[in-house]
Amino acid sequence: MARYREPKCRLCRREGIKLFLKGERCYSDKCAIEKRNFPPGQHGKTRRPKKLIGYGLQLREKQKLRRIYDVLERQFRNTFEKAAQAKGVTGETLLALLESRLDNVVYRMGLATSRPQARQIVRHGHVQVNGRKVNVPSYVVKPGEVVEVREGSRKNAAILGAREVTSHMGKPSWMDVDLENLKGRITGAPKREEITQIPINEQLIVELYSK
Ligand code: SF4
Repeated sequence: MARYREPKCRLCRREGIKLFLKGERCYSDKCAIEKRNFPPGQHGKTRRPKKLIGYGLQLREKQKLRRIYDVLERQFRNTFEKAAQAKGVTGETLLALLESRLDNVVYRMGLATSRPQARQIVRHGHVQVNGRKVNVPSYVVKPGEVVEVREGSRKNAAILGAREVTSHMGKPSWMDVDLENLKGRITGAPKREEITQIPINEQLIVELYSK
């Protein structure tokens, strides 16, 4: 299935919240949610927002989370199945698995200004895990592993630009980041309270898939 190519800001406007898909722009007043926070399309401005309940609400929540991490439906479902089979609270495990994706880790470390940019950095082979090149964005990074920019990519303008933008931003407590040297070590499992800048009710997603 092809990746969904609708302009990213439209996705935010559809959800009515900032999904932080465009890097620096998301933090500026150019953000479409700051300028036009109503659904996209001809009647977006005048249409009264529908009050969602039940299935509709669960579906929206799932779409929101899927769009934040830019994961296709099939891959999202597989991640959910993995979470359901693991010990612990399924919704929290689902979030932790998404958060541990290599593209997200690169973004969280501050080597990219958005998850889509981080995905591209990984895909283009700029990143290694424990000394070995990994170009699979869905790779799940485990505690103890070291993620770093590869030797030949240390002058990459996109990565260095992102480092400058993110240098003043806080980093999650479950990683030790050495931004100067473009690397970081995962020290533990992602913490629920630190996951996503956006409120997510993961229980709704668990209910959706448990029908
Ligand atoms: Fe666009 Fe980022 Fe604003 Fe979303 S948060 S509308 S992606 S600028």
